[in-house]
Amino acid sequence: TVRVRFCPSPTGNPHVGLVRTALFNWAFARHHQGALVFRIEDTDAARDSEESYEQLLDAMRWLGFDWDEGPEVGGPHAPYRQSQRMDVYRDVARKLLDAGHAYHCYCSQDELDARREAARAAGKPSGYDGHCRELSDVQAEEYRAAGRSPIVRFRMPDETITFTDLVRGEISYLPENVPDYGIVRANGAPLYTLVNPVDDALMEITHILRGEDLLSSTPRQIALYKALIELGVAKEIPAFGHLPYVMGEGNKKLSKRDPQSSLNLYRERGFLPEGLLNYLSLLGWSLSADQDIFSVEEMVAAFDIADVNPNPARFDLKKCEAINADHIRMLDVKDFTERCAPWLRAPFAPWAAEDFDEAKWAAIAPHAQTRLKVLSEITDNVAFLFLPEPVFDEASWTKAMKEGSDALLRTAREKLAAADWTSAESLKEAVLAAGEAHGLKLGKAQAPVRVAVTGRTVGLPLFESLEVLGEEKTLSRIDAALA
Ligand code: GLU
Repeated sequence: TVRVRFCPSPTGNPHVGLVRTALFNWAFARHHQGALVFRIEDTDAARDSEESYEQLLDAMRWLGFDWDEGPEVGGPHAPYRQSQRMDVYRDVARKLLDAGHAYHCYCSQDELDARREAARAAGKPSGYDGHCRELSDVQAEEYRAAGRSPIVRFRMPDETITFTDLVRGEISYLPENVPDYGIVRANGAPLYTLVNPVDDALMEITHILRGEDLLSSTPRQIALYKALIELGVAKEIPAFGHLPYVMGEGNKKLSKRDPQSSLNLYRERGFLPEGLLNYLSLLGWSLSADQDIFSVEEMVAAFDIADVNPNPARFDLKKCEAINADHIRMLDVKDFTERCAPWLRAPFAPWAAEDFDEAKWAAIAPHAQTRLKVLSEITDNVAFLFLPEPVFDEASWTKAMKEGSDALLRTAREKLAAADWTSAESLKEAVLAAGEAHGLKLGKAQAPVRVAVTGRTVGLPLFESLEVLGEEKTLSRIDAALA
């Protein structure tokens, strides 16, 4: 059976690249009715934080992902936080050393740097040169006597490593390009290079789907896996699939530090998890050539890792918003109304809590649902209903109030006063007629009305807005604008 893992390090805020990796693993697991293992790679005490760990869990829940093994749900391979598995790694490192798959390396950083420079200058491969590969006991003793503590280095086999990437096809690495590498620090702390494949092996992971930035660690991990199989720690080498890079502004790789990549930003702006996931799925995958909008269930049903495109994907915020807007339209009204709730109260709402009117909100919500790209836009769009007076900004006022606007507004007021206030259509007729009287099309005629009543040049469908606000307030706001 299929077993995949999502194994972030709890450093900083979750970012969209991480979410895409989680999504593809989750979709793959669910498609194959396999298991998703959620593992926390927190072996770097200097960079990992408890806060970041909590944020990761919170993000997974908000996105709607479930996992079969991992934090909070447990499982047969517990614990799932690497910081609690140090004994396991110590034991495996010992076995690798005993079997000769790894050795102690006493080279200092300065020595490594100097030899790397020299190799580079001579046009030779500049990775680790194998200096400590065959140290004698006497030499090792001398180093220790001189106060050096060794790191543990994995001994790469002298052979080409070839594997078939699930996304990229066959890839080969020549031995001179994959030098021996460190797996345990001099202070005894195991490194990602060891703990990640060891846990993949012990947790019986069958498929590794992760970002392209980790492609170059794959030949090392395959070699380590082979050693682990020999030692009886691993059963078989998993399949690897590397997801394409995500490019941001200026065709540069989207980095974790890019503000645009922070998941929190999308949550705060009111993206729906389903909208964001739909968009992120398109970073390397597609359901079909003519369908951009789909649910995660549809993605799960159709997901095939072989369909992932190896070419870099471009993160397009506009498209992300457009897709989110479509998902907002697809909610049922009640759901939409509830999801807007956070943006209708402090600290976002500029109106006093007691001025919020549940009935008016219920009446306007269906019209708001047709307009928003992200939920946070709701606040400014409905403020005119709950504030005692509209808030004008200079720019909107001058944009809408042209010469002749006063005359238009006066006629509109007259016609609106005579309209049927239970019908948005009747209010529209009134403004249309006022426009005709002044030689203006509806669009031009409604602009001053909108600004006078809502304070803004753009917003929700106007006549429905007026109907919900009511006759008295609408007319008195027009009066105030004319005064
Ligand atoms: N903890 C690693 C990371 O967040 C996992 C890499 C992998 O998937 O192998 O980069």
